[in-house]
Amino acid sequence: MAAQSPLPSAAIDRATWDAAHDDLLTFLRDLIRIPSINPPDPPGPETDAARLIERVLRAEGLEPEVIEGVPGRGNIVVRLRGDGTGGDPLLLFSHLDVVPANVADGWTHDPFAADVADGYVWGRGAVDMKAAVALETMVVVLLARRARAAGLDPSRDPIPGLRRDVMYACTADEEAGGKAGARWLAEHRPETLRAAGALNEAGGVSVELAGRRFYPIQVAEKGYEVFRIHVHGTWGHGSMPRDDNAAVMASEVVRRLAVPGEPRLTPVMRQFLDGIRSNLPPEGAELVAAIGGDDPRRSEAAIRSLCDPMYARAIRALLRDSISPDVIHAGIKYNIIPGDATVEIDCRTLPGTTSDDMREEVVARLGDLAEHCTIEHTNSAPPVEAPASGELYETLADMIRAHDPEAIPLPVMAPFATDAKASSVLLGVPTYGFTPLRLAPDERFLERFHGVDERVGLEALRWGLPVLYDVVATFCG
Ligand SMILES: [Zn+2]
Repeated sequence: MAAQSPLPSAAIDRATWDAAHDDLLTFLRDLIRIPSINPPDPPGPETDAARLIERVLRAEGLEPEVIEGVPGRGNIVVRLRGDGTGGDPLLLFSHLDVVPANVADGWTHDPFAADVADGYVWGRGAVDMKAAVALETMVVVLLARRARAAGLDPSRDPIPGLRRDVMYACTADEEAGGKAGARWLAEHRPETLRAAGALNEAGGVSVELAGRRFYPIQVAEKGYEVFRIHVHGTWGHGSMPRDDNAAVMASEVVRRLAVPGEPRLTPVMRQFLDGIRSNLPPEGAELVAAIGGDDPRRSEAAIRSLCDPMYARAIRALLRDSISPDVIHAGIKYNIIPGDATVEIDCRTLPGTTSDDMREEVVARLGDLAEHCTIEHTNSAPPVEAPASGELYETLADMIRAHDPEAIPLPVMAPFATDAKASSVLLGVPTYGFTPLRLAPDERFLERFHGVDERVGLEALRWGLPVLYDVVATFCG
């Protein structure tokens, strides 16, 4: 449909897009300069960031609401009206908080200065996820401007061309699970998130493989199950070693749990790999066909030869339920044999794996050590899935193709968790990771998340804004 009919973005002239890009950059840099670090110490910067967005939206005639479920932990929401004939709203969904950053870690630019250099905006949050906040905010701004240009009040009147409402929610506390952010909104103000579909972080970003440009659209994400394993040994004198030294047993617990589990190809990952395979030349296609197949050695060799180490780790994680032992505590003094130890493990589950399944897997791997362990379940969230078909997914794929004729959009799963845990699990809103960016072929996007020298390309943003605008205007129009 997109190829034949003119895109909504085509109705906006070049000068207006250039001005919108400049506005987006100014806003993004102001937002990066607010150090909305999570955990906040003290709370406040997330609300400062929400207030910045509030000022920007009010200047366009909108009436956003800043909501502090927890003092100093601001969320911001706003709603644009359609004429009501198009069905349930679309939610533009993002988060305000960032993980910590220190210049001493080797940053070449101050992480909160938002420098523009070498074609990038630099700073903590540039990709996770203030660039996407800026894209979503600017789409709302452009829609409000469209209403005002027609002599309407964008806070009340339907926006010309919109049949569905467009909702916008930008939350605190995503990086720590959303208790003060998306989860709080889902539990106390569900009307701010309830929609036909939501666009959230991390998908719709180009990845080049063998000269082809793929755009994985995130339709699923893994769940997590966190366990604290208490290892019970016997206290004693270090001069006379014992086999049931809890530190020794804990090290064996870690060794057994850290072994990669059996691969299981979920429908989304099968679709993802098939989509890549069918677009690569024969040698590459043959390698992709081996990934997740019956022969684990061929699968691993294929992953190594196709992917750099970062993407290889992501693919391995997406093929199995994973266990990462991340905390070990044992011992009080060098000459006292510890009788207790604890091991905390981060398990990430594929769609189809339940909490009980994961616990069984842990017990099975512990084997004869299980009888010396007590397993405490400390945190949990199920995997999330949205359909890789239907009107919203097709609109996302079509708009990417319309703006990049060489694009190959594909559904994919994320190994990590996002605010989709709130929108999708608590409210049943199909939530997609979609923040359209067309990157330079050598850009190492995945490494930028929580990384040193986090940055986003200016041209990637310039490309992404009309794509997101067309998604919203088409799905809601
Ligand atoms: Zn994020």
